[in-house]
Amino acid sequence: MAQLSDDCFAFGGKLLPVDDAVSMIAARVGPVTETQTVGLTEADGRVLAEALLAPLPLPLFTNSAVDGYALRSSDLPHDAARAFLVAGRVQAGAPGGTIAPGTAVRIFTGAPMPEGADTVFMQEDVTLDDAGRVVLPAGLRPGANMRPQGEDMPQGAMALPRGRRLRPQDVALAAALGMTALDVRRRIRVAVFSTGDEVVAPGDPRGSAQLYDSNRFMLIALLRRLGCEVADLGILRDERAALSTALADAAQRHDLVLTSGGVSTGEEDHVKAAVESIGTLVLWRMAIKPGRPVAMGVISGTPFIGLPGNPVASFVTFAYVVRPVVLALAGAAPEPLMALPVRAAFSYRKKKGRREFVRAHLRIGTDGVREAVKFPREGAGLLSSLVETDGLVELGEDVERVEPGESVGFLPYAVLI
Ligand code: AMP
Ligand code: MG
Repeated sequence: MAQLSDDCFAFGGKLLPVDDAVSMIAARVGPVTETQTVGLTEADGRVLAEALLAPLPLPLFTNSAVDGYALRSSDLPHDAARAFLVAGRVQAGAPGGTIAPGTAVRIFTGAPMPEGADTVFMQEDVTLDDAGRVVLPAGLRPGANMRPQGEDMPQGAMALPRGRRLRPQDVALAAALGMTALDVRRRIRVAVFSTGDEVVAPGDPRGSAQLYDSNRFMLIALLRRLGCEVADLGILRDERAALSTALADAAQRHDLVLTSGGVSTGEEDHVKAAVESIGTLVLWRMAIKPGRPVAMGVISGTPFIGLPGNPVASFVTFAYVVRPVVLALAGAAPEPLMALPVRAAFSYRKKKGRREFVRAHLRIGTDGVREAVKFPREGAGLLSSLVETDGLVELGEDVERVEPGESVGFLPYAVLI
């Protein structure tokens, strides 16, 4: 982070492409090093500190995939159905025993395959004759309906990579491998401020020209979803000295300091000057809409990010600037945002050379194809535009126009966090 200012684009300079911003950030932020051991029920969302190599194979033992009848594939009927003596029975959880040549064994899902048996007939596909023998049809493939030991994952395989932000299925895999706890990195601590003389906290007295702070609550919620420990540090006035003191203090005690508002180039945008007085700062004009400038810097070795005040700009730049920084600080592997194709149900003009995000909801068209419907208004201050939509249509730098029926990339809000 300390070198960010060397090769970044200050205000007035070139617009910085979104991908360049993301890779610059990821390359410069080092992860927190402290780790802790957490039980599996606490592991969801945590960042794995070291790779987990499978201590056991999965499945643990060869077993039946269905309820049915097991036999040796060398006994499989080839041309016509054949009756077999049912010489044994294996339930799930019981030992498999050994199968005698020329016989079948009644078996249930998850039960160990008897020694020698390697094929299972589904019970739906067989009949029983008057003598109580099972009649097995011809044509089954050798090895059918059984799950060999290690088929899912051989012993010693990479089960979970270092840096994985654990998901429910990852926790399930660790449990299946017999783990009771995992080593994860400590949560990163993030300080969040709002700025602006016009901003008051909900519940506080509000002057006629003031508005309630919404960004702070959005940013805190977004950060928590990314697994951060968040300190809510309230609202700072548009006053350089007070900003400097508060930001310097926050930088001492946190891994990241995040603000919204006050980073444009108006005379009352004091965040920039405040950070410059206590650390180093660069103002990025990212080629992104909604966006406006995003400030990044370092205060006493701690990264600082100043997001724009408009709620929609704050939300979008969070996804492209704060999210990668948070992941890098947390020691998580990068998780590039991948838009999935949907059909545009709108037309749109945009400027070449910048990435634009269109707030949209999804619907199923009359022909059954998913399509994105653009929110009718575009202002960067419209919270309703985030609340009433499902995600963002991402229009790349090269795109100049979109017409109804074209394929566009869609990012559901759920993948942004
Ligand atoms: P600024 O980036 O400070 O120029 O602010 C841009 C716009 O965002 C202004 O209309 C602000 O009133 C608004 N704004 C700034 N901070 C907040 C906040 N915390 N919550 C909601 N709106 C805000
Ligand atoms: Mg302001």
